[in-house]
Amino acid sequence: MKKPAYKRVLLKLSGEALTNKLGYGMDPEIMLSIAKQIKEINDLGVEVAVVVGGGNIFRGIAASARGMDRATADFIGMLATVMNSLALQDALENQQAITRVQTAIWMQEIAEPYIRRRAIRHLEKGRVVIFAAGTGNPYFSTDTAAALRALEIGAEAILKATKVGGVYDSDPIKNPNAKLFSELKYIDVLNMGLKVMDTTAISLCMDNNLPIIVFNLTEQGNIKKVLFGEKIGTIVRGGNNDG
Ligand code: UDP
Repeated sequence: MKKPAYKRVLLKLSGEALTNKLGYGMDPEIMLSIAKQIKEINDLGVEVAVVVGGGNIFRGIAASARGMDRATADFIGMLATVMNSLALQDALENQQAITRVQTAIWMQEIAEPYIRRRAIRHLEKGRVVIFAAGTGNPYFSTDTAAALRALEIGAEAILKATKVGGVYDSDPIKNPNAKLFSELKYIDVLNMGLKVMDTTAISLCMDNNLPIIVFNLTEQGNIKKVLFGEKIGTIVRGGNNDG
């Protein structure tokens, strides 16, 4: 049987990826579909870590624009990611996956604290590790948490899930002629201001040569296709000193 292209990956799910058609909350059917896809690749022996966002519940920057202290708002945002992480853990365990949630902010009654070597050990044992509470620091995003954790655990790629086919030159929902990029260099993402991940996250990936694969998670089986090297979505890599 063909071997997966990657042995260890980090899947980044935005809070929005979990929402219902109206764009809020967590949709049980979507959670189930995501859980099934993660379980499927985990069963193939791929080590999977997940970082979940919180934008479906709370975004610090939006609250700070309405007058809330930014750091306080960001901590609320980080707590939102913990709720999403627990919901995803539940969905995964309903699919008989073995999981651990590790949080960047201590809350021992709910989840393990983030301990890098322990996370790696869980992955080696085939457990799905969900990293919650972002980086634990305000002024960062869960995209940056995804890049940071991926590097810390030695993931070979970030799989960035979206609701569209990949990265386009304009919004494909508004523009039916939008062009999909199959491959991009990190520097092009930064220069063109493309909405792949925020600039801190892209810079971290660029400096450490960590590929980002942007793909449509709403189509069942897409995570598996990415892992088996099928050319779907957009891959961001190269263009730095070594690439
Ligand atoms: N956040 C933070 N530090 C982090 C990660 C997240 O302060 O390291 C806060 C920030 O307020 C952010 C919110 O948590 O708006 C939710 O995360 P994010 O916006 O990245 O979620 P997503 O867009 O992926 O749903």
